[in-house]
This record gives sequence, C-alpha cells and structure tokens, in this order.
Amino acid sequence: MSWPGLVAAEPSRAAEGVPGLRVAGDTPVENRGIPGEGPNRLWLGYLLFGLLSVGAYYTLPIFVGTVPLRVVVYCAVSASAAVAVWWGVRRNRPVPRAPWVVLGLGQVVYALADATFYVSHYVLNETRYPSVADIFYIGHYPLVVVGLVVLIRRRRSDRDLPGLLDAASLTVGAGLLSWVFVIGPQTRLGTPVLVEVASLAYPLMDLVVLLAALRLLFGAGRRDGSFLLLNVWLAAILTADTVYVLQRLAGTYEAGNFLDAVWLTGNLALGACALHPSMGRITHTAEVPAWRLGWTRLAVLCVGALVGPLLLLLQHAQGVQRDVPVIAVGCAALFALTTTRLAGLAVDQRRIAITDGLTRLRSRRYFEAHLADDVARAGRTGGPLAVVILDVDRFKQINDRFGHPGGDRVLVEVAARLRAAVGPGHVLARYGGEEFALIAAGADAEHPTRLAERLRHAVGHRPIEVGDGASVTVTLSAGTAAFAPHHGTASALVSAADRALYLAKDLGRDRAVAGGTAVAEHREDVAVDYLDQVADLVDLRVASPGRSLAIAEWARAVALRLGRDAEEVATAHRAGRLLDVGMIVLPDDLLTESGPLTDQQWHLLHEHPDSGARMVGVLPDHAEVAEVIRQHHERWDGAGYPNGLARERIRLEARVLSVCDTWAAMRADRPHRRALTHEQAVRELRAGRGARFDPHLVDVFLELLDEGAVGDLTAGPTAPREGSRLS
Ligand code: GH3
Ligand code: MG
Ligand code: MG
Repeated sequence: MSWPGLVAAEPSRAAEGVPGLRVAGDTPVENRGIPGEGPNRLWLGYLLFGLLSVGAYYTLPIFVGTVPLRVVVYCAVSASAAVAVWWGVRRNRPVPRAPWVVLGLGQVVYALADATFYVSHYVLNETRYPSVADIFYIGHYPLVVVGLVVLIRRRRSDRDLPGLLDAASLTVGAGLLSWVFVIGPQTRLGTPVLVEVASLAYPLMDLVVLLAALRLLFGAGRRDGSFLLLNVWLAAILTADTVYVLQRLAGTYEAGNFLDAVWLTGNLALGACALHPSMGRITHTAEVPAWRLGWTRLAVLCVGALVGPLLLLLQHAQGVQRDVPVIAVGCAALFALTTTRLAGLAVDQRRIAITDGLTRLRSRRYFEAHLADDVARAGRTGGPLAVVILDVDRFKQINDRFGHPGGDRVLVEVAARLRAAVGPGHVLARYGGEEFALIAAGADAEHPTRLAERLRHAVGHRPIEVGDGASVTVTLSAGTAAFAPHHGTASALVSAADRALYLAKDLGRDRAVAGGTAVAEHREDVAVDYLDQVADLVDLRVASPGRSLAIAEWARAVALRLGRDAEEVATAHRAGRLLDVGMIVLPDDLLTESGPLTDQQWHLLHEHPDSGARMVGVLPDHAEVAEVIRQHHERWDGAGYPNGLARERIRLEARVLSVCDTWAAMRADRPHRRALTHEQAVRELRAGRGARFDPHLVDVFLELLDEGAVGDLTAGPTAPREGSRLS
C-alpha cells in the first residue's frame, strides 16, 4: 500500500498556516477575487495607470484656468494608494487585518500631508518650513513602523534574533552616515528650534523605518509579488526622504523636482501591494526560511561594518576630527552586534552538530563524546553507568507499508515517547537509522534492563498514528550493558550492549537482553568476554540463540531456591553460561546431524565437557566453574560421561545444570527433530528422576517451572544480572 496524501490527511489543520496548500474544494487564493472574474490583475492595472499619471504630472501645466492641475494629479495619486489599501483589505481579506489598517491609515495621513503641502505651496504660495504638512508627514512614520512590526511578527513564530542583529548592524552603519552627513551638519546650522526639530525628525524616523524594512527583508516568510511591492515602497520613501533632506541642507531642494516621481512611485507600489492577490499571504507564518547567511548577506554586512572606519579615514583625510566620538560609539555598537551574531552562529552550529535532524534527539556524535567522558568519570569514581541500545523491530516493513515519510513519522513518535520515558540525567540519542542509544546514570544504571523494559513499554503500549486513520504498533528490542568499575572502555560498553541487542533479535525480538558487563582493558577480562562470545556462537550453531543465557538464569533460580550460598549460585550461573563452549571445536555436520551418530562422532561429542572445562579453567577464578562444566553430563546413576561419577560425587551445580540443559534441549527445535511439547518434556524429566537426574532437583525445577520462573527459552533473561561474573 502506498501512502499518498499524508499531509492532506487533516485538511483543516494542514491548510491552516500552510499557505498555498490546496485542499479539495478550496478555491486557490490567486483566483478568488470577485466571483466570476478571471485572474486578479487589478494591481497591475492600478500600477500602470498610476505610473502614466506620474508621467502626466510632469508634463501637465501647473494651472489650467484656476484649477491647480498638477496639485490635483499629485494628491490624487497619493490618495489613491490609501484607497487601494482599503480596497485590497476588502478584496483579499487578510488575516489579521490590523497591520493593513494601520498601513492604510498611515497612507491617509501621508496623502493629507501631500494635499496640505502642495496646496499651500502652489496655491497659497506659502513656503514656510516647518508647516502643518510636516506634522502630517512626520506623524505618518510611526504608523508605518507599527504596521511593519505587526507584519513581521506574524510572518514568523520565533524571534529570529540573527535577522534582528543583522538589521540593527546595517541600521547602525546607516545611522553613522546619517549622523556625519545629515544630522550633524543640521545641528550645526543654528536654525530656529522648530526647523531643527523637523529637520532632525525626518532622518531619525527614516532610520527607524530602515530598521523595520531590513528586518522584514532578512526575516523568514513568503516572498511573493506583494512582498516585493512592499519593499519597493519602503525603498522609494527611504531613498527620496534621504535625498530630500540632503537637498534641503544644501539649499537645492525645489518642490516638484524628480523626487516627486520617486515618492509617487513608492505610493503606487504600496497601493499595488495591497491589491496584489498574494497580499493576504504576507502575514502567513514562515514557511519560506529566512534569507540565509550566504555570501551576499555577508558582503552586505561587511560593507555596513566598514562604514565607521571609512568615515574615520575620510575625516582624517579632511583634517577634521568632529565626529570621532560618535563614530567610535557606532563602531563599538557594531562590534558588539557582530560578536553577538558570531556567538549565535557558534551556538547554532553546536546545536546542529549534536542534534539529530529528524527526531531532535542527541546525535550519535554527542552520545559518543558524552559516553567517553562518563566512562572516564565512572572509572575514577566507581559510580554506576550503563548503556542501553534499542532498535525498532522490523522497521523495514513499516517503511514498505507506509512509505518513507510514514516511517519517519513513526521514528519521530518513537523518539518522543522515549524522551518522555527517560528521566532527567540520561543522554538519549539517535544512534542510527531506527536505533536509539541511552546512557543511564544513577539508580537506573544499576538496573539497566529494568530501564530498557520501561522504555520498551513506553513505546509499545499504544499504537502510533501514521496518518489517514492508520496506526501501527511498534516493538523494540534492547540490549543493555553495565560498566564495570576500573575495567573497560566506552567502545567495549557499546559492543556489549550491541551484542545483547543482536541476541534479543535472535531470540525473536520484542525483548530486552542484558549483556555482560563491559570489559576490555585487562587481558583476563578480554578472555572472559571472548568466552561469552564463544558461548553465543555455540548457541547459534545449535540453532538455539540465547540458550546459554537462559540456562544460566534457570540454574541460578534453582540454586537460589535450594538456599545455596552466593558463591555456589554464582558458579551455577557462570557454568550455565559457558556450559557448551567446548562444542565450538565440533564439526558442523556433527551439530546438525539428523541420523544416528557414528562411534567416532559419539566419541567427539563426549569430549566437549572436558574441552570446555579446559577452555574455561585457564581463566582466573574459574577453576570451580570449569569443574562444574566437566561434570554436567554425569548422571545420577553413574552412567554419564566423562568420568562416570554418581550421586553426591557429582557437584550440585553440575546436577542442577544437567536438568536445565536437558530441558533446554528438549524444548528447542533441532535440525533432526521438532521440540517436545511442554507436557512431553515434563514427562521426560519425571522419567529421569533417580536415573539420569538427582530426583530432588527435578522436583525443584518442576516447582519453579509451575511458577513460570524457569523454562521459557524464548523469554530470554531480562532480570538484572548482578553477580553474573565471578570477581
Ligand atoms: P530488525 O531490526 O527487527 O531486524 O528489522 P529491521 O527491518 O528494523 O532492520 P534493518 O536494520 O535491516 O532495517 C532498518 C531499516 O530502517 C532500513 C532503512 O531503510 C530504514 N531506515 C533507516 N533510517 C531511516 C530513516 O531515517 N527514515 C526511515 N523512514 N527509514 C529509515
Ligand atoms: Mg530494526
Ligand atoms: Mg537496525
């Protein structure tokens, strides 16, 4: 089954905040307009007609009779932008409306300013500065800024600190230029207070608008036609304002010069922006990422940062030191902004490096670095430390069924459940494709298998929604390994957990298996570890993975029930684990033989207790274990091998193992026969009481079997295995 329409599974939610996502029955925004109309081209018509009017503005006579024709055309164009914004809001129904209402209001104030200025200038021949018009002009800036800020905030959900820092850097650069060429000279003219206030208000307001405009430009969000026109508007008013202030300072400004064309074009761009069909999407939360910090942006920022030093050089060349304090403050601000920006980048890079992109868990790299530190600390302090590796069972089938995106969704949910179940203080990482790894500390590290079971339950206890109403229950296999103080390395710990994980898979999945403690540094530890691996290998060769681990657990349970001392319990357990390592030397055909064995084969087979005992006996502290292994095929009635020992002359642990080993053999399928049923096997054990087996031990084993404490080959050992090694 393929997995189409994953995103469209929940139309209402998916469509919300995902502009442009079309759900069946939804009219594309582009064509909505007025029902029955074609694609919306009103904005283009408005823009072209407006530009023609601007051309007309320069060619028409100032007066036709008593009618001030130019003034009428100018004011009509700037007022038309306010009307266009109002019409655009009605037509495109932006959500929210507030920023557009504020921007429209700003344009109304601006049109009022134009009307006042041009009527007083051309009709009343009034050239006082500042005038009422300047109050309107200056008053429109705060509305522009508020409108822009609301737009910016709606365009993205996070705070985008880098965008703000970059916008601030460039604004500081522009501020320095403004100070040196506009604000400073203005303050030195000695003009009347009102003139000075008005003349300073323009460049200062322009700097605030510039900050907002740059913020908009750098930030995330869609960059459709409407967005482009909005930026044209901002660029036009900022450019024209700057040239205007410079001309005023130089005394070269004349009403009606080319700047009118720039202002009018800016107004038209705002009107067209509001009429553009993509207008409603400007406020949609970021879906297009922010402008990356690529070469272009870096170059722009570099130029901005060089403004200060260049101004200093310029003043030095001119022999003036006038603005040195201001430029120094500007440079310091730029330095602080740049440093903050770099720190942010470093933090981002580190976060990316240590975070898995899909699941947001820690990355494998972080896990490994952290584990190395933890191992070093545990080696010093002897504190508990364990590793759990978890792997999703049959994940390929999930991919096959639900597609890769469906598989990804499952991985994300598995990660979220693991994260919720893992307590604080542990490190949880995505170790590979569908493999997760955990560094356990504290009490959890003392019982890693219990922890693994808790995690497995957290993931598997209820199905995971894959979308479209489908869901899937996933199970995990887990391998754990505990760190042995003063022994072992991080990689030995991971290998031990990994081997246990493989064993869990071999045992049929959906289980946790405790690996031995991780050892590697000392030669004898390497040997112990190696023999554990030989035991696993033998289990696999006799097609019964996990068999020796199970036998070891049962032997321990029986010894404990018999009330034996800790040393005997440990010996029984250890000997159970290494019971058949001697079989490693047997040829494959002997292990898989289906017919009756030849004499020579019997001979070889009978040697394995001795071979095993010799292999194990060379290990330090394993002399007892080796003896038990040598005796595990002896019989109660003395008819066993290799030495024909009988009754209590056979070590108790060996008698226990004889029962456990036989049970394991009877209950497993072999190449030449099917496994016995539970009842058949119980009958066999009973039949062997007093002949093959110590009768009391058979009774104890059957008692534990009834309780479910022993006998299940497929369950695998899941209990914590402290004391599983002899030390
Ligand atoms: P098992 O572990 O139970 O033995 O079976 P499995 O099918 O889970 O085992 P295997 O490790 O062979 O398959 C893992 C699959 O996970 C193979 C790979 O295509 C898939 N996989 C790896 N990474 C991703 C990922 O990021 N997303 C998705 N959807 N699949 C992934
Ligand atoms: Mg898997
Ligand atoms: Mg895998």
